[in-house]
Amino acid sequence: MVVFACNPCPCGQFSGRGRSCECGPVERRNYRKRMSGPILDRIDITRHVEPTGPIDRDPRVASPESSEQVRARVTAARLRQLQRYDGRPWRTNGQAPGALLERHWPMERAAHVLVDAEVYGGRLTRRGATRVHRVAWTLADLRGVDIPTKDDAAVALRLRQGHPLMASTLRRVG
Ligand SMILES: [Zn+2]
Repeated sequence: MVVFACNPCPCGQFSGRGRSCECGPVERRNYRKRMSGPILDRIDITRHVEPTGPIDRDPRVASPESSEQVRARVTAARLRQLQRYDGRPWRTNGQAPGALLERHWPMERAAHVLVDAEVYGGRLTRRGATRVHRVAWTLADLRGVDIPTKDDAAVALRLRQGHPLMASTLRRVG
């Protein structure tokens, strides 16, 4: 796994919480453009992380899940992948060749329609579509279901495009 991290703007203070950032929109856009398109195209998940505030440390809103619970779900998801790709030279969704994924392990039809619409609309490259397909499989594996649904594809697209997740899909995936 490769993880990149960068500041939201040249000074590093920009956020939705009114910190003291004096960078203009053009400066922020130019700063983000320093990451080249072909590199960004290979990043499966983009998340914007807000600075933590007092509310994040409030136990009433803290994540109800422990690391052990999350680990158990990830272990189960990886086991599903190991079983699904039994006899193949790869073990995880992230390693599965795109062409074989399309042929042998498709998503639900509605999921492919959704992803194809992004490709035809010029918002997603073919390579990006393969990566969305892989992430959708991982979401299905985390939920313990046998095929990625349109919801899984929608969440994978939002994860890729850095968009906030919808509460409705979060409940289904979580
Ligand atoms: Zn700034």
